[in-house]
Amino acid sequence: MKKSARNTFLPTDRAGMTARGWDELDILFVTGDAYVDHPSFGTPLLARLLEAAGFRVGILAQPDWRDLDALRIMGRPRLCAAISAGAMDSMVNHYTAAKKIRRDDAYTPGGQAGARPNRAVIAYTAAIKGAFKGLPTVIGGIEASLRRLAHYDYWDNKVRRSVLVDSKADLLLYGMAETALTAVAKRLADGEAIETIRDLRGSAVLVDSCPETAVQLPSFDEVAKDLSAYNTAFRLTSEHTNPFHGRPLAQQHGNRWVLVQPPALPLRPEELDRIYALPFQKQPHPDYTDRIPAYDQIKFSITSHRGCFGGCAFCAIAHHQGKTIQSRSIASITAEVDRLTRHPEFRGTISDVGGPTANMYGLHCGDPQSEQACRRSSCLYPKPCRHLVQSDRLAVKLLHAIHDNPAVKHLFIASGIRYDLLPKQPTYFDELLAHHVGGLLKVAPEAACETVTRVMHKPGPDQFAFFLEHFRQRSQALGRRQAVVPYLISGHPGTTLADMVETALFLKRHRLKVEQVQDFTPTPGSLSTCLYYTGSDPFSGAPITVPKSEHERKLQKALLLWHLPANRKLVDEALRLAGRQDARTELLDAPPKGPTGQRRTTRRRR
Ligand code: SF4
Repeated sequence: MKKSARNTFLPTDRAGMTARGWDELDILFVTGDAYVDHPSFGTPLLARLLEAAGFRVGILAQPDWRDLDALRIMGRPRLCAAISAGAMDSMVNHYTAAKKIRRDDAYTPGGQAGARPNRAVIAYTAAIKGAFKGLPTVIGGIEASLRRLAHYDYWDNKVRRSVLVDSKADLLLYGMAETALTAVAKRLADGEAIETIRDLRGSAVLVDSCPETAVQLPSFDEVAKDLSAYNTAFRLTSEHTNPFHGRPLAQQHGNRWVLVQPPALPLRPEELDRIYALPFQKQPHPDYTDRIPAYDQIKFSITSHRGCFGGCAFCAIAHHQGKTIQSRSIASITAEVDRLTRHPEFRGTISDVGGPTANMYGLHCGDPQSEQACRRSSCLYPKPCRHLVQSDRLAVKLLHAIHDNPAVKHLFIASGIRYDLLPKQPTYFDELLAHHVGGLLKVAPEAACETVTRVMHKPGPDQFAFFLEHFRQRSQALGRRQAVVPYLISGHPGTTLADMVETALFLKRHRLKVEQVQDFTPTPGSLSTCLYYTGSDPFSGAPITVPKSEHERKLQKALLLWHLPANRKLVDEALRLAGRQDARTELLDAPPKGPTGQRRTTRRRR
């Protein structure tokens, strides 16, 4: 790539700074991911936003945290360092659910593992503090967000302190952080000391005493040794996630307090539009010679919205992006499509238009007063809220508008969809099945046994069966060969071997064969992780069975993969332990009724 093309990226070294006529940076971004100048990646998105606000920003992507000189290549920044582990928690990135080291990393050139440290937020912050004494440090991203309070850590198998305490950073910004980080940069530029920035929504800081206005959570010491105190802290935290009425939370750590301000207010469409109109190059930095797998996946995809109101127990998206759906305008999205069609590698296919859940685009709470006072974690579970506007009008309009671009030959939906919205979104599903399934449609029932879906806060097996029937009938009527890819979790809290037998029988009866199953990982911040750790529901106090032994988890997984010959012995054992030998013939010996409607599942990580 020519020098001039390199200079369209944000600086990553002195040469990039010199090309812009800068002798110093205002803000140094440090990230555990490779630098892909794309709004799907948090660090480039924030860096471009601050660039647009007039700040001189540079990006240190996957620096060697053991080499202080490597951190100093762009010199000491004038205002602060903004530090993130990257798009994933570094421990999730490094280890499987069985705590085995992963051999790959989708966010690194060549998919190579090992480019970032374990507990990257702590390691990078320590390194930056070593390289630049006294420089204000701001931590953010998914790892910092979900570890902002004392939390159970699966890899250490203990409750850890807030990452703010362990990293010794000056400020933690949780959530998407556009508004908060811009405010921090402006206030630092105005000469304010970082120690006095204590009032920002979406921030956490260390203070000397518990403010009167804050909700006092059980302390770190209490939650570390008392399971019911842990549950109380989780419940109180959940009650204050609504940005419209949430109060600050305070949790004592030693002789100091972690003070977490209420979440940021959702961005308006015009604010999101402005962000997505920034001059992203939509490419990895030209210095990389190897492909970056995560980039290949999103290269021709479009983010239409953020947030999710599904409230699945194992998912922490709502704790990071919020429950409110924040949608871009159709004009902004089609303008991005237009730019994408001029990408040198574009061949007519948009691989995805969506967000955490594709068919939530444009949906919202229809009663602003109720929304402001709302304490539900899900607008859909246990049943759809009467205030939820579920109309597919905008989502359908969006699909049509993108397809109106003559350069777009194919438009696929690869983001997950909520199939329980089908009854209220008939036109969207018709359009989806007729034009936007690239052979396989990802859906996430996660389990097909009522007792488990209830713990997961997911729609039950009846709704999944209804959707499957509709999918197959419509696909057949349309003459399209396409199948559903069901995502399933084994080993989730509340799941017994008998429940997994039920799920396996459901799959067989509905002619679904899966090739990969997600073994539950208790990641920081989710309700499921709280259930896993405490063994009881933080809201009802009801005890929950937690499959923890490696062998039981193996048996659960084998049941969902009953059709693999290598699993036959394990399936036999699981059936015997569950007292379900009666299911053996149906599961292992009887041929599935009708043609197999399923080809394979794909890998995913949470
Ligand atoms: S009132 Fe209902 S629709 Fe509105 S935010 Fe709450 S749960 Fe969702």
